Amino acid sequence: MSTFKIKDVLTRVYNSKRPAVADLELLLSLATEPETRILYAYADRVRKKFAGNGILLRGIIEFDNNCRNNCLYCGLNRQNKHIKRYRLTQSQVLDSVARMAAQGIKTVVLQSGEASDLDAEWLAIVIREIKQRHHLAVTLSVGEQDLKTYRLWREAGADRYLLKIETTDREIYQAMHPEMDYDRRVTCLRNLKKLGYQVGSGIIIGLRGQTRSSIARDILFFQRHGFDMIGIGPFIPHYQTRLAKDKKGEALLTLNALALTRIVTRFSHLPATTALGSMEQDYRREGLQAGANVLMPNFTPQPYRRYYELYPGKRCVNEAVGACVPCLAGLVASIKRHLDFSYGHTLMR
Ligand code: SF4
Repeated sequence: MSTFKIKDVLTRVYNSKRPAVADLELLLSLATEPETRILYAYADRVRKKFAGNGILLRGIIEFDNNCRNNCLYCGLNRQNKHIKRYRLTQSQVLDSVARMAAQGIKTVVLQSGEASDLDAEWLAIVIREIKQRHHLAVTLSVGEQDLKTYRLWREAGADRYLLKIETTDREIYQAMHPEMDYDRRVTCLRNLKKLGYQVGSGIIIGLRGQTRSSIARDILFFQRHGFDMIGIGPFIPHYQTRLAKDKKGEALLTLNALALTRIVTRFSHLPATTALGSMEQDYRREGLQAGANVLMPNFTPQPYRRYYELYPGKRCVNEAVGACVPCLAGLVASIKRHLDFSYGHTLMR
């Protein structure tokens, strides 16, 4: 496609309140280096204008890998009997948070599977302790819960919540999540917003049956909902799931979707996801140059980190707690950006 045509479509998408699916599809299909260079440079300019030059850090603690669900693509699904299940104690979580705070990080992400026996009050105590001891922003990523539970955690001090929609194509959603319900998931996202959380969502690129058109609609869904954070990562098949033999998602399409999400949503915080860094090469650098403004160093203590295997080959599973920040500083310096140690609250309000 000619440079002129790409720039023309980009301008139309950027200036439109509701971009056309066909325009998004066309930009998602860009494949040659000269073509994608134009797309990523445009997204990079939009990122600089609306989200600044700093790269925010969110320290993640994967505190529990038990899950009641059966998502086809996920190594933690309840039918996987081959992994070692674990749940950290409150003091293990708080020790990791203390190390994170000592490195100057201001946001902790507490992530787990959807454990059927998770004690909501147990997590509320952890949230209160983090707020009292360290004043960090607290993000939860603990799946679908009822309104009462979301309220309890919000009142305990949680600031943000991540709940990826994974795909907005209902057929694919149902095929990937046989016992879950798309409408219930959207209701959860709405409930979180009503309770005053800063809400994050996201998708997986490369799921079976997904097309550029469905990804284009995912991006319009992000725009409609005005999410504060959006995570976009490639599908990486897990050898102990029913999708073991599926093709993995393409880095190129993931980067194109990330760039377009930046252009369409403008203000959302977009991580260069760990999955993007766990492909045949580390594509997080490319992600940061295609619209992303967040990195998520892992603070899950050893020896548990390797057991939180949503997908295989996840990077940094052997590193000690605290080793990620200096490493990420090097990555960021190589593209002439800097780490931002502020809270990094939403830019949408
Ligand atoms: S994606 Fe989340 S909810 Fe689904 S099986 Fe994995 S941990 Fe459980």
